[in-house]
Amino acid sequence: MVKNERGEVWTLAEMRGGKLHSVSYELLAWGRGLADALSVPLGSVVLGDVPPDASALFKRGADKVYTVTDSELKHFLVDAYATVLAGMAEKYEPQIFIASATTQGRSVMSCLYSKIGCGLTADCTGLSIQDGALLQTRPAIGGNVMADIMTRLRPQMCTVRPKSKKPLPADTSRKGEVVRYSPPGSAVASVLTYLGFKAEPRVGLPIQDAEIVVTGGKGMKNAKNFALLDELADILGGSVGASRSAVDLGWAPHSSQVGLSGKSVTPRLYIACGISGAVQHLAGMSGAETVVAINSDPEAPIFGVSDLGIVGNVLEILPRLIDDLKSFSKEGLK
Ligand code: FAD
Repeated sequence: MVKNERGEVWTLAEMRGGKLHSVSYELLAWGRGLADALSVPLGSVVLGDVPPDASALFKRGADKVYTVTDSELKHFLVDAYATVLAGMAEKYEPQIFIASATTQGRSVMSCLYSKIGCGLTADCTGLSIQDGALLQTRPAIGGNVMADIMTRLRPQMCTVRPKSKKPLPADTSRKGEVVRYSPPGSAVASVLTYLGFKAEPRVGLPIQDAEIVVTGGKGMKNAKNFALLDELADILGGSVGASRSAVDLGWAPHSSQVGLSGKSVTPRLYIACGISGAVQHLAGMSGAETVVAINSDPEAPIFGVSDLGIVGNVLEILPRLIDDLKSFSKEGLK
């Protein structure tokens, strides 16, 4: 267990295909606030097979960038990543270490906390400093309460929901220090073998990155009708999401689930089709700028958070909307 009460605040940056992923910058926005409140430096840790663009991390708030570059770290292999991070935590003794609640962040942090013997709060939506310690806020009991959690052990570790904070504006005048860490060879050796990466077929960007999200729930009646959502998303240049009920019924992949146990989305436009608006669903889309809901029940809770509500049968409304948009775009081209 690391015991340094005056240690730095650390964030875990993520590399995808040799480039920094946007969650790295979101974490820096959280980390900057915490580091300033504690008057300690903010470090960002990056593992990979190529050196990261450290200046991009400095511009978004990092004071230091800790890099570990090794060909063995090209692909995310959880045991090797956790072993390297454990060695770094023991050497540099950060007092706070936060990662994103992505697949990578969740798996490596749960492995790391058991290696270094401290606590871990998963899936936080709020972080602040109280009495010099990290106050971690996360939904609990099915999203009905917000729990505040403090950890006695150091480093205080948590994962934070992607999209729970916007990155800080890039400040080109910011500079920082690069610290290169060389782990012992045994640390990067994994018992796992990387076989390959197979992307799920889907329309548009991952929902968490999309500007427009068209989401379907149980009111879509069956998997076949999700083709209407694909068509609408395709016309609008958006992506297709789903409620947990639709995912549980096998109508949509889990990667498209919006909500408490799915993903948080922050699109400019969110179109909820046949979704009741349960609190656990709303937890994942409350950051949407404009919400349009189509539901046959005028009392559906989703209308309480909608800017525009359409009461009616979604299976009749969607084909009309798609036809109108198609003729509108044709006329627009004339
Ligand atoms: P329903 O609640 O069954 O709603 C279907 C809606 O469709 C109704 O409002 C109905 O009026 C409407 N409808 C029916 N027919 C039509 C039609 N022809 N035209 C128009 N409208 C129609 N849920 C999530 O979505 N995401 C999560 O991440 C999530 N996490 C959860 C975590 C926990 C711990 C728990 C306990 C629950 C979680 N849930 C989550 C489930 C959540 O409580 C709801 O059960 C779920 O969101 C309901 O999905 P739905 O709106 O598609 O279905």
